[in-house]
Formats: sequence, structure tokens, C-alpha cells
Amino acid sequence: MNVLVTGGAGYIGSHTCVAAFAAGHEITVYDNFSNSSPEALERVARIAGKRPRLVEGDIGDRAAVHALLASEKFDAVIHFAGFKAVGESVSKPWEYYNNNVSGTLVLLDEMRRAGLRNMIFSSSATVYGNPDPKNLPLREDAPLSALNPYGQTKLWLEEIMRAMAAADPAWHILLLRYFNPVGAHESGLMGEDPAGIPNNLMPYITQVAVGRLPMLTIFGDDYPTPDGTCIRDYIHVCDLAEGHVAALDKVASLPGCTAVNLGSGNGISVAQLVASFEKAIGRPLPRKVGPRRPGDAAACWADPSRALELLGWKTRRDCDAMCRDAWRWQSMNPNGYRKA
Ligand code: NAD
Ligand code: UDP
Repeated sequence: MNVLVTGGAGYIGSHTCVAAFAAGHEITVYDNFSNSSPEALERVARIAGKRPRLVEGDIGDRAAVHALLASEKFDAVIHFAGFKAVGESVSKPWEYYNNNVSGTLVLLDEMRRAGLRNMIFSSSATVYGNPDPKNLPLREDAPLSALNPYGQTKLWLEEIMRAMAAADPAWHILLLRYFNPVGAHESGLMGEDPAGIPNNLMPYITQVAVGRLPMLTIFGDDYPTPDGTCIRDYIHVCDLAEGHVAALDKVASLPGCTAVNLGSGNGISVAQLVASFEKAIGRPLPRKVGPRRPGDAAACWADPSRALELLGWKTRRDCDAMCRDAWRWQSMNPNGYRKA
């Protein structure tokens, strides 16, 4: 298929480009590099032996999106472009609503004007809000809620696309709800490269391990979980990338708008992830236990059975692989994509 990948230079997008090339697809990346580096696409080319076509631009720039969709015929869009930092969304709500919601509305409108109605959208487990433990593992029909502007953008975009698909049966939309993507390409050439101090656990751990940060703080060990630390469903980014390839294969045969969890189905605690990482690097990590982080759910993991049923996809890589590959990336690239 000829695929347009918005945000294709980002963390998940770059890994998806590699997986999509491996499956024989053609790729055009549309990215404004607001949270990524062109170097990521150089790495895609090194791994895949093929370079995605790059069009630099913003999804909110209607004229540019129109020109792009008029320039060639795409079979599907994988839409990663958007802002994703929960904390930043609280301090910059307008920027989040504008970039994620307004930008996606422009893209959706230009897609339908171009007669392109196969859409694979990056949603998130954040749409489940702070899940009631009785709903674990989370199925796609679990109650939805937003805890912050970032989560609100995903929830609204899901609702908008659901309504558009209900009104126009030509749409085929997959709302892929990612759980906690971590890890890196096994070559060590591509990985997560957050700007500033990481908010998420795995990049924080890898930056402590490489000496960029002094110490990991575990946010709370008094949760009602077996070891007292929070439980999440970590998913290797290469499994996630392959989930998008599976979605490409199926999107045209799934009419309407369908939400699908992309997770492993396994809950892993913070303490377990840290122990796995320490095993991968062969030494203990400087760490301490601190207070709970406000707003954190005690536990959240997926029921991934719909992904298997509809997309024929499930995760293949375990927690040890996630840690090993995250460490390989960070140790080979201590400053991420920036030159030392
Ligand atoms: P990322 O920031 O690494 O990638 C996003 C890419 O989109 C970047 O390359 C950025 O430059 C680009 N971009 C942002 N706004 C743009 C715009 N207006 N026009 C064009 N390009 C733009 O993030 P990621 O981790 O790869 O996440 C990709 C998608 O998946 C996001 O929509 C995110 O909300 C969603 N998601 C991520 C996670 C996660 O933990 N990483 C979890 C659930 C959902
Ligand atoms: N976490 C932690 N220390 C950190 C960052 C995160 O203990 O420096 C914990 C956090 O409290 C949560 C888990 O790690 O329980 C996953 O956090 P992350 O931000 O990566 O994902 P999310 O909470 O959005 O699922």
C-alpha cells in the first residue's frame, strides 16, 4: 500500500516506518519536527535500506495537506502527529487542543476531499481515565474518561471519528489504543528521544543508567498491588509498530470506526520493570522511593483479545527484550539523536 504517515519521524512513527517497509509498503512521512529530528529518518533508511519520502509540514496547514494529498494517491493514513505530554497539556491546553484536535480536523477534512477514507489513528489507554479495578483487564467497551487536556484530545478525536464514520459508511477508521510503549529497535539505531527531563518511566531509567540523571524516584510503593508499586501494560515499540502493519492489512476490510487495544495483556509493576532493567545492565540503578505522583492509577492493563481477533496481531517481545533494547539504544546514543 501507499501509506501517508503523519508524525513518522517520532518515536513510534519511525519504528512503524521500518516495520511497514519490511512488509513491502511505500511510505511518505509528513512531519513538522516539532518533537523529532530528521536524523530519525536517516536511521530508518540505515535499517530498512530504503528512505521514506519526506514532506516537511504541519497537519494544521490546510493548503500544505491539500497539496500533499493531491500530489499522489494514498491508500491509507497512519496518523501519529500530535503532542503527547500529559503535564505539558495541563500548562498549555490551547496548544494541545489546537495541535491535536484542530490539526486532525484539517487532516480528516482533506482526506475526505481527496476520497481517502482509510485512517489508522494513534489513540491511547489514557482514554480509560483512572480505571476501576473491576474493569481490569480493560476491554474496548470499558468506560471512557479524560483526566487532562491531552487525554481529552484523544477522547474527542475518537468521538469525532466515530460520528464521521456513522454518518459516512465509506470511512474505515481504526482507533488504536496504545498502552505503554517502551524499548527501541534491536539495532540500537532508533529509540525514544524525549526533549528535556523525561516524564515516563523507561526513558527516565535509561537516562539514569547512562549517567544523564542522578537517580530514579519510584513514585509510591504503597499502592494496593502485590509489591506496592503501580502496574502498567508495557509494550515493546517494535510490537506496536507491527500492530500498525497488521492494521494496514485489515483497515480496508473493517468498515466504520473500530477501537482496538494494543497492549500485551500483562501487567508489570514499576519494581518489576526496574528489576528487569537492572538484570539487563548487570548492575543496580541508583533509586529511591518517593511519594505517589498525583493522578496515577494503581493498575492499568489491556485485554488485547480484539487485536488478535480483528488484526491477527499480538505482542511477541517480553519485558527483558524491552529493557535490553531500550538500554542498547541509550548506551549507543547517550544524547539521543543529538550529536554528543
Ligand atoms: P512523538 O512526539 O515522538 O511523535 C510525534 C511526531 O509528530 C513527532 O515527530 C512530531 O514532530 C510530529 N508532530 C507533532 N505535531 C505535528 C503537527 N502539527 N504536524 C506535523 N507533525 C507533527 O510521539 P510518539 O511517542 O511517537 O507518539 C505518536 C502518537 O502516539 C501521538 O499521537 C501520541 O499521542 C500517541 N501515543 C503515544 C504514546 C507513548 O507513550 N509514546 C502512548 C499512547 C499514544
Ligand atoms: N514512574 C516512576 N518514576 C518516574 C516515572 C514514572 O515511578 O520517574 C511510574 C509512574 O508513577 C507510573 C509508571 O511509572 O506508575 C508508568 O509511568 P509513565 O509516566 O511511564 O506512564 P503512565 O503513568 O502514563 O502510564
